[in-house]
Amino acid sequence: MEVDTPDENMNESFDANVFPDLLPTYYNRLFPFSLYYKWLRYNDDKLFINREFSFTLRDDVYIRYQSFRDEEELKKEIIQKCPFKIDIGAVYSCRPSDQRTASNFHPVEKELVFDIDMTDYDEIRTCCSGADICRKCWVFMTIALKILDRALREDFGFDHLLWVYSGRRGIHCWVCDKQARELSPTARTAIVEYLSVVRGGEYKSKKVHLPEMLHPSIGEADTIIKEYFEDLIINKQDFFESSENCEKVISMCLDQTGKDILKSGLINESGSAKKWKVIKEVEETVMHQKGSKNRSKHFITEVMFQLCYPRLDINVTKGLNHLLKAPFCVHPKTGCVCVPIDPNEIDSFDPFDVPTISRLCKEIDEYNSTLKADDMNDEANIPNKIPDYNKTRLKKSIEIFKTFVENLNSANTDP
Ligand SMILES: [Zn+2]
Repeated sequence: MEVDTPDENMNESFDANVFPDLLPTYYNRLFPFSLYYKWLRYNDDKLFINREFSFTLRDDVYIRYQSFRDEEELKKEIIQKCPFKIDIGAVYSCRPSDQRTASNFHPVEKELVFDIDMTDYDEIRTCCSGADICRKCWVFMTIALKILDRALREDFGFDHLLWVYSGRRGIHCWVCDKQARELSPTARTAIVEYLSVVRGGEYKSKKVHLPEMLHPSIGEADTIIKEYFEDLIINKQDFFESSENCEKVISMCLDQTGKDILKSGLINESGSAKKWKVIKEVEETVMHQKGSKNRSKHFITEVMFQLCYPRLDINVTKGLNHLLKAPFCVHPKTGCVCVPIDPNEIDSFDPFDVPTISRLCKEIDEYNSTLKADDMNDEANIPNKIPDYNKTRLKKSIEIFKTFVENLNSANTDP
């Protein structure tokens, strides 16, 4: 599925000092204002006008409750202020820019959003920690996207999902169906709890408890996890190599007989593949036998889920007030654009191949320098009329976004 490539630090090539100098070009020539406006307007002016944007400016100056009348005003303000980061908040009962004087100012709707951050996998991944990612751990994000995308579409019937690479170490999902935008905080909490299977903080050893009869949604997630588990956990992460990680699995087994077999088996075997075999045998020889109430019929599935099932930042999803970084922002440290991801192509999505702002600016210059001098002077000449993003690798990302917005608009104009 994936060629093993040497680890590399994705941030090395980007010089963060040039970021402020490149931003004006990025916003002027590449940022998709028109599609943005079409997206957040949802065919209703009020929804755009009452939407909160927040900007993080140079030196971490943070300004909330920005709102704009239309595409032109949004574009003018962003180009003028050149924010290092843009966040999108809720649609409010009136214009957020008037919030100080308005009475009963409150959020009325927002996309249902999900945030999955690689730092929440630090207790599992053996390759990196903190803000770092590599191709060996990115697979956790692939699994998370596939499981959530399927559940949101098939279990909840949502159609308009915008998946976005966060620019550094995770992914976001914006569920934009009208029914999703209008969900109450209670309903959002219920959805995120339905989707959360791994529960408990770092001191809880067994975080997945599956009932004897598995919910079909769990069965679907299991199929997805199985597809990746051995390559990810055995080959890429070599997870069972460390005795500390073996201990973690032993403590996931609540049955004493199973625990004892695991203990001796995991000490005597070497290599993640052989140790995984020991763990699988325990399920067949002990856990499926009747006897102790602590024998889980789904021990292996529980282990696999605890190691691979998506870890969600519940607070991001629950409330209407939470702001989330806007798609097509540029991460100030990595220079990476927060590009939309086509969920059908997640297996080939490479976070190390995401366009950086410096590369995009260079690509425009390179493209223009290939044009003949005559072309550049000829107003009617077609090459000169090409939008700048089409001269760069951002083209594909804009196309994914455009398809998403077009599908959304055709759904919103239905009677
Ligand atoms: Zn890694």
